[in-house]
Amino acid sequence: MVNPRYAFFEEKIVPIEHAKIDIRTNSLQYGTGVFEGIRGYWNEKTKTIYVFRMEDHYRRFMVNAGIMMIEIKYSLKELCDITMQLLKKESYTEDCYVRPFAYNSGLNIGPKLIGNEQNLFIYSIPLGEYLDTSKAINVCISSWERIPDNAIPPRVKISGSYVNSALQKTEALLNGFDEAIVLSKNGSHVSEGSAMNVFMVKGGTLITPPITDDILEGITRDTIIKLAIESENINVVERSIDRTELYTADELFFCGTGAQISPIGFVDKRSIGNGKMGPVTKKLQELYFRIVKNDVSEYSHWCSKV
Ligand code: PMP
Repeated sequence: MVNPRYAFFEEKIVPIEHAKIDIRTNSLQYGTGVFEGIRGYWNEKTKTIYVFRMEDHYRRFMVNAGIMMIEIKYSLKELCDITMQLLKKESYTEDCYVRPFAYNSGLNIGPKLIGNEQNLFIYSIPLGEYLDTSKAINVCISSWERIPDNAIPPRVKISGSYVNSALQKTEALLNGFDEAIVLSKNGSHVSEGSAMNVFMVKGGTLITPPITDDILEGITRDTIIKLAIESENINVVERSIDRTELYTADELFFCGTGAQISPIGFVDKRSIGNGKMGPVTKKLQELYFRIVKNDVSEYSHWCSKV
């Protein structure tokens, strides 16, 4: 694994060690930043990196920034071009991850979204697996609830809101689990994982919480819904899921840019199916890993060649 050498910072690409912020920065104090996570996949056959659904990630980034009243001075095309330039300069020969971050860069004290200087940086890192994708992981239901839309909107990737994720993930790890599934306010329904969406397979149908159950509207979630319908002929239902429905699922898996497609074998020590990766998860995972490397021509419009 190599370190990144460059960042896009204060309007230009600079050596990463020059990309430093002031300790007084508003977003460092109050979490008033909006970010994205985008993966680039190394294809060993073509010796190229393909960036997956880059435009969709930047579209979400721009919409999210709008909710947080952060003005992005760049067009969608400019953001994509800068990302390509950065990755060209890094010339990774392994999978990588791009982190765009728009933030209140001013030095004013006080949590507010107006009257502050704003800026944007982008950097990348080499990144392998975030969660195990080869075998089913062991998860718990978090004792921490998901932040509701009317407190900090989970559909926005706000840097400050990841305190909620950090509490969930840390509790899970300290208790010997790999990850957590989080319930929405007052434990009403299943929301998502600490940084990933969740799918359940039951009687051949793929079920996932709706976007109104305090989830991030994941791009991988959207990808899976499309693949299931278009390529695998699987019925997909977006509806609220109860905690104990998870225990009786045939299969469960997480999905996300970082998590990719990660099978879940146990929830709260109850085995899901036989505790191993199920056939629907396996099928979708195999297809997903081919698509992100631009090995499926039907979906090559999702892959941007570096
Ligand atoms: N939920 C949360 C809270 C996340 O941080 C992520 C990762 N971005 C996801 C879901 C998955 O979203 P995506 O597929 O767009 O990466």
